[in-house]
Amino acid sequence: MTEAVVENVDILIVGAGPVGMTLHLALAAGGRKSLLLDRRPQQAQQGDPRALALSHGARQLLEQIDSWPTRAATPIETIHVSQKDGFGRTLIDRAEYDLPALGYVVRYRDLAGALAANVAADAVLSEAEIIDIAPGDQQVTVTLRHAGHTRTFQTQLLVHAEGTPGDDPTVKVSDYEQHAVICEVTPMPGHNKRAWERFTPDGPLALLPLGNEYSIVFTLPPAKADAVMALDDDAFIAALQEQFGQRMSFAKPGKRSRFPLALRLRDTLIKDREVWIGNSAQTLHPVSGQGFNLGIRDAWQLAETVLKYGVDRSSLENYAAGRRLDRQGGAFFTDKIVRTFSNDFGPLKLARGLGLLALDLCPPARHFVAKRMIWGARAWP
Ligand SMILES: Cc1cc2nc3c(=O)[nH]c(=O)nc-3n(C[C@H](O)[C@H](O)[C@H](O)COP(=O)(O)OP(=O)(O)OC[C@H]3O[C@@H](n4cnc5c(N)ncnc54)[C@H](O)[C@@H]3O)c2cc1C
Repeated sequence: MTEAVVENVDILIVGAGPVGMTLHLALAAGGRKSLLLDRRPQQAQQGDPRALALSHGARQLLEQIDSWPTRAATPIETIHVSQKDGFGRTLIDRAEYDLPALGYVVRYRDLAGALAANVAADAVLSEAEIIDIAPGDQQVTVTLRHAGHTRTFQTQLLVHAEGTPGDDPTVKVSDYEQHAVICEVTPMPGHNKRAWERFTPDGPLALLPLGNEYSIVFTLPPAKADAVMALDDDAFIAALQEQFGQRMSFAKPGKRSRFPLALRLRDTLIKDREVWIGNSAQTLHPVSGQGFNLGIRDAWQLAETVLKYGVDRSSLENYAAGRRLDRQGGAFFTDKIVRTFSNDFGPLKLARGLGLLALDLCPPARHFVAKRMIWGARAWP
């Protein structure tokens, strides 16, 4: 009987989404090889309907690996934060931070396309299905099916970047009982590069400038999301207008998609020679657009750690310790915002209004929040 051939790869990355590809390119920039594998065909990402608000910090990292999708990115110059049927509002303006923009809005597919353009064809196995993962002290053995063949790889480091985890006892799940209905609409008059975050008892409503359109993230309890998905275009615009108010009107809604929302937080980021990054490490509510911004920092910090200290146990432990504040801060921030703002409880509504007013009137408090949105953990304490 002939023995199966075992192929050696330095680093194996499961999931060629934006986070996996960022890690691959950051490692390559430092001269370290890795192999990406994805269960879907590469062009599948071109069908993803999401638009992502990326921070100024994320842009700087993507520029370092020549993957900033310049022409596809719409700058955000101001962010207006308010609550439905309540007082208080805050305006965050890029002019206060000496930056070209507070952040940028990019379609998932354009971001994935910009990254994929820099990944060599032989560095990614698409439509690969993992059959088995055998962990070990010094290496991990991964068996998979690809193009009709069973292949076995041995790697010093297995990185999980496969996105939102399914059922797994090491992942804590906290369901928000909210779904995000997303679509693009045309604002009238134009958006003037302003993003809106509007809190309603049903959940947050975000409007992100994208080209000439707004990309809408309309968060609702599941039954209301069913109803909104079923509306015709005119009724959908009326429902959107009802949540947003009359400051602006909307037309020409595009195709709608929906995503159920839950916080999924992995207990531990490392196990022997396996590490979890991006959504596979933490999947957050999309409020304030933290998910990919956190994931790209995971990828970057892991690449820096590997390039400087290698892939042994202590360097992976350093990586996990270094990510603690950023990921827990991101999860805490989004979770508290969603739970504090998604209700109609009178005293909380009053406190929220006072909070928004205080942020608006007190520049240091506003800068504190804005800088964390622009830079993430780099802005702590
Ligand atoms: C409605 C909505 C709006 C959002 N808005 C924002 C925003 O404004 N800003 C922001 O920063 N974030 C936002 N996010 C979050 C953002 O989309 C994610 O954080 C980001 O896509 C995570 O990237 P990733 O590469 O970790 O995972 P993914 O994008 O999910 O990619 C994972 C990849 O792994 C592959 N894969 C999965 N399982 C396997 C397997 N078993 N084997 C091999 N491959 C596998 C998949 O095919 C996919 O290509 C939003 C999310 C939602 C739902």
